[in-house]
Amino acid sequence: MSAQRITILGSTGSIGVSTLDVIRCHRQRYEVFALCAHSRMDRLFDQCLEFRPRYAVIRDAELACQLQHKLNKAFSPTKVEYGQQALVDMAEHPEVDSVMAAIVGAAGLPSAMAAARAGKKIMLANKEALVMAGALFIQEVKDNGAMLLPIDSEHNAIFQSLPVGYDGKPQKNGISKILLTASGGPFRKTLAADLEKVTPEQACAHPKWAMGRKISVDSATMMNKALEVIEARWLFNVLPEQIEVIIHPESIIHSMVQYIDGSVIAGLGNPDMRIPIAHALAYPERIASGVEPLDFVKVASLHFEAPDHERFLCLALAYRALDEGGSSPVTLNAANEVVVQAFLDRKIAFTAIPNVVAAVMDKTIITPLTALEGIVAADQAARALAEQIIRQYE
Ligand code: NAD
Ligand code: MG
Repeated sequence: MSAQRITILGSTGSIGVSTLDVIRCHRQRYEVFALCAHSRMDRLFDQCLEFRPRYAVIRDAELACQLQHKLNKAFSPTKVEYGQQALVDMAEHPEVDSVMAAIVGAAGLPSAMAAARAGKKIMLANKEALVMAGALFIQEVKDNGAMLLPIDSEHNAIFQSLPVGYDGKPQKNGISKILLTASGGPFRKTLAADLEKVTPEQACAHPKWAMGRKISVDSATMMNKALEVIEARWLFNVLPEQIEVIIHPESIIHSMVQYIDGSVIAGLGNPDMRIPIAHALAYPERIASGVEPLDFVKVASLHFEAPDHERFLCLALAYRALDEGGSSPVTLNAANEVVVQAFLDRKIAFTAIPNVVAAVMDKTIITPLTALEGIVAADQAARALAEQIIRQYE
C-alpha cells in the first residue's frame, strides 16, 4: 500500500499539531505533502524539519523568504510558497490524496472548497467553511466524488453512529434525531450578572478541551454549538428541528443518533481530538491515536441538562439562520468572527457578542447563495457592519 499523501491547512494550530502527533506514530502510512500556516514561523520551521514536506505555505512574501532561507541553511528540501492562492494550490494538487482543513474561520473556505472541487478526501475541522457554504459545499463534494469526513468531535461521533454508507436520507434510515452534546463551556454555572465582566483569559480556559482562541470563545458563548447545529444540518441532511442540543459537562459522549424505534447510538471516548483525527486519517480502517482508552469506572457518572437559552443567546441564532436560509448563516459567522476578535482585543464585553451578531443579522438583507462570490460578498458586508456596530459600543 502506498502512503497517503496529505496537505495540512493550519498545521501550526491546535488541530494541525494534533494531526501531526497522530501521523508521527504512523510514518509509513502517511506522507506530508504540504504544511500550511499563517504565522508561528518557528513552529512551521520545526514541523518542516521533522516531516520534510514538499511545500510549506506561509502568510506573505517576507515571511516566506525568511523561512526559505532558514530551511535552506538546514539543508531542508522544502519549497516555501505564500498567500491565499498557494493554499488553494496545495489543497487541489493532483499528487495530494487527502486534505486536513484546519484553518480557523472564513479564511479556510477557498482552500476547503478547492479540495472538494478536486475530489479529495477532506478531513473537515474548519466548520466555518461548511456553515458559510452549506448546500454549495455539499454539492461540490458530490459532483466531484470527494469524501467528506468530519473532524469536529460531535460530528465525527454522529458519523460513526449512523448506518455505514449513510446516504443523507434520515427518514429512509429510521433516524428521528441528532442529539448534539455540548460541554457548556467555562461559564456553564456563571451567573448572568457576572458574565458581563469575564475576561478573554477566563473565556479561553475551557474545562475539557485545549483549543485555539477563537473556538474557545465560541465555546464560552455557545456560538460553537450554534455553528455545529448548522454544520450537522449540512453534513447529515437533517432538518433543524431534528437537531437537539444537550449539555453534557463530562464531554465523554461526543454526540448521539436517535432512531424511530427508540434506539440511541452514541460515540464515546476521552475528550482528545486525536481520536476523530485518527478515525478520519485511517477511514474506513482503524489506527491507534495515542489516546488513553476510556476508563468507565474512573468516569463513574455522566450528567445531562437542557441548555439555558436565557444566558446563552447564540444557540437560537443558529436556528434563526437556518430558518432564514440563503446568506443568513454567512452573516452570522462573519459577524461572530469580528466580534470575537473585538472581545479578544478587549474592545467589547463578553455579553455584547450575541447582541452584535443579532444586530448584524437584523440589518442584513438575505440573498440566495449560488456561488462562492456571493458568499464572499455577504461575508464582507457582514464584517463591515459588525465593525460599525462595535464602534458604537466602544
Ligand atoms: P488555531 O487558532 O489553534 O489554529 C488555526 C490555524 O489556522 C493555524 O495554523 C493558523 O496559522 C492558521 N490560520 C489562521 N488564519 C489563517 C489565514 N488567514 N490563512 C491561512 N491560515 C490561517 O485553531 P484550532 O483550534 O486548531 O481550530 C482550527 C479549526 O478547527 C477551527 O475551524 C475550529 O473551529 C475547528 N475545531 C477545532 C477544535 C479544537 O479542538 N481545537 C475542535 C473542533 C473543531
Ligand atoms: Mg465540536
